[in-house]
Amino acid sequence: MDLMAIPVLDQHAHNLIMPEAASRTPFRAAFTEGYDPDIIAHHAQHSLFYRRSLREIAQLLGCEPNEQAVLARRDELGLEQLTALCFNAANMEGVLIDDGLMPDQILPLDWHRPFVPVHRLLRLETMAEEIVGEAESFDDFLARFRAGIDPPPAEMVGLKSIIAYRSGLDVRPTSLEDARAKFDVWKSSGQGRRPRLVDKTLLDFLLMQALELAARHELPVQFHTGFGDPDLDLRLANPLHLRPILEDRRYRGAPIVLLHASYPYMRDAGFLASVYPQVYLDVGLAVPMLSVSGMGRAMRELLELAPISKLMYSSDAHLIPELYYLAAKWGRVVLGTVLEEAVRDSDLTAAEADEVAEAVLRGNARALYRLSVS
Ligand SMILES: [Zn+2]
Repeated sequence: MDLMAIPVLDQHAHNLIMPEAASRTPFRAAFTEGYDPDIIAHHAQHSLFYRRSLREIAQLLGCEPNEQAVLARRDELGLEQLTALCFNAANMEGVLIDDGLMPDQILPLDWHRPFVPVHRLLRLETMAEEIVGEAESFDDFLARFRAGIDPPPAEMVGLKSIIAYRSGLDVRPTSLEDARAKFDVWKSSGQGRRPRLVDKTLLDFLLMQALELAARHELPVQFHTGFGDPDLDLRLANPLHLRPILEDRRYRGAPIVLLHASYPYMRDAGFLASVYPQVYLDVGLAVPMLSVSGMGRAMRELLELAPISKLMYSSDAHLIPELYYLAAKWGRVVLGTVLEEAVRDSDLTAAEADEVAEAVLRGNARALYRLSVS
């Protein structure tokens, strides 16, 4: 199936990085979740993802398929032209951007708007770190935190949590008193700078607060699950840990979106989506970062059990515009392959496969985030 003509709605991505910051970051750093200098210097260029992508980028930019030629051509184009080229080739009808990644090094949301319609995702942990400095007490902080979500700010279509990166997905019920007791130590831990939120008690407590408000407004909450950079304990990034939250009736109104195909826990995620009405799935980061066969396996395993109404396309693109293009290309190719197999296997008719392609690439996300079609 050729799905290139269907515009994608990218339901999870990040801002591009400012040119000044980009000049300090090696190009290939955008192709690995590792940040150890040895990984970037000696190994990142040898992943199947990087080898494949370098050729594809060279083809898009019209240059020789080597890093030097690609870098020279990127400089020649400049960021605006490069972005226009990549975003047009990606054929996107919109993008949901989590602007909480590297907040002081990224281009603002408005910078992206001439290239693609943008909607905002609010990263909970970043918001907490931004407001704690001004808060006079725990009660004041909590009031500000809740006011950041309720009522939902204009343009904000969902929440995002990176609790998997901080203390893991095994979120436990936490009392107001326990959270209050941890507040002063956290607030003073920044020593004049923005204090990083790593305390499990506070993280769990604030997530529950946010879920309660999200449920009230039926606001989707995206969770980082599965692989990511080495901040993460992958054992605690399995979405099965979310069971207490998924079982709790108070949070039932908040759709939960499991990002990154939960890789390598695709089947676990597929199971959750098959039994909990509020759980949704996403293919970002796994597409385009895995090998071609790995991307196929991820998509296939998610769909082994999960309803097709639950799966959504995203890129998790960040830093450079090329990732938006590579994800959109491979998201379509891999979905097309998996749907062809489903037709061959008699799981779907050809007409049904066409409907599923539309739903996964944009329809399911349009409905979940209540986005009007322009
Ligand atoms: Zn992300």
